[in-house]
Amino acid sequence: MPSDPMTHSASTLIDTRGRPLRDLRVSVTDRCNFRCTYCMPKEVFGKDFQFLEREQLLSFGEIHRLVRIFRDHGVEKVRLTGGEPLVRRKLERLIEMLAYHEDLDLTLTTNGSLLRQKAADLKAAGLKRVTVSLDSLDNDTFTRMNDVDFPVSKVLEGIEEADRVGLRPVKINMVVKRGVNDDSVVEMARFFKGTGHIVRFIEFMDVGSTNGWQMEHVVPSRELVEKIRAEFPIEPVDANYRGEVAERWRYLDGSGEVGFISSVTQAFCKDCTRTRLSAEGQLFTCLFATRGTDLRALLRADASDEEISAAIAKVWSARADRYSEIRTAETAKLRKVEMSYIGG
Ligand code: SAM
Ligand code: SF4
Ligand code: SF4
Repeated sequence: MPSDPMTHSASTLIDTRGRPLRDLRVSVTDRCNFRCTYCMPKEVFGKDFQFLEREQLLSFGEIHRLVRIFRDHGVEKVRLTGGEPLVRRKLERLIEMLAYHEDLDLTLTTNGSLLRQKAADLKAAGLKRVTVSLDSLDNDTFTRMNDVDFPVSKVLEGIEEADRVGLRPVKINMVVKRGVNDDSVVEMARFFKGTGHIVRFIEFMDVGSTNGWQMEHVVPSRELVEKIRAEFPIEPVDANYRGEVAERWRYLDGSGEVGFISSVTQAFCKDCTRTRLSAEGQLFTCLFATRGTDLRALLRADASDEEISAAIAKVWSARADRYSEIRTAETAKLRKVEMSYIGG
């Protein structure tokens, strides 16, 4: 029986560093129609790459059941991701099922390519907001980065439509890579200033082991703050809640805000309240994990809710992750799970 959305009360799970479990990222597919060079480089994710088969993916029913159990452990926020979540067929059905829990903050991260067509259905199904990834407004730079020749204009149409149907405020994620798109930063801030959308600049991370990450490619957020501040006066704003990963800054003229996600130069592990569920039901307690816990095996062996709940509690209670705090050139070379698999 689903728990009553109005009378729900959750217990709080705490890990070994005193961090509660609050956010769940659910990857609904490991596939994507882009080949962003920093995430799914073509040379690795080519036509021979073995993606998950349909029956390996968690069904919507299985995802819903797990979300319900996670919610009883204190999860307040669920973000659907991937791969590209909008390539999973009938995703609105899953959103409808999850939206039953009215107090759940239900959001989605997308590359925006299918958003213009799907925004209205997503909103009607009960999605609250979207985050759209867009790495440059310059078409040449953007197509070089997505590596499938996808134009900026179509992503902008998706953002507009999301705004129109009320999936607001739209957050725009821009991964900044030195020498690739760092010259697009000020233009990105200027374009979205005053629109109500919030641009977040993300430091290029050493996720997975295929994107050729090197420290020289990272543009520290400090540098970006100064670059933007030289054009538009901005000042820092307090975080909305514990575990908010973006450092917020607002324009002094009241025309909105921007965020900086500095997982490389200013690690935020001490407040990390996130866990991730891969498309095939592996649970990961860190973006940089090398190993997960198989929840699908439990689901498909007819485990009870109590047994699955106990398995989740065991994993979170033992959690000690703080990869970004201890990152070195050596750890960056470790074989980690790919972001498109684990859910970005
Ligand atoms: N396909 C969707 C998208 O691109 O928005 C959702 C999945 S994607 C893996 C989630 C987020 O991770 C995107 O905003 C993407 O830019 C970001 N990302 C991927 N690889 C990254 C990396 N190496 N460093 C920093 N961010 C990265
Ligand atoms: Fe696809 Fe998103 Fe990765 Fe780009 S960042 S390849 S859009 S999953
Ligand atoms: Fe959380 Fe791991 Fe990232 Fe640290 S490195 S903030 S523990 S996901």
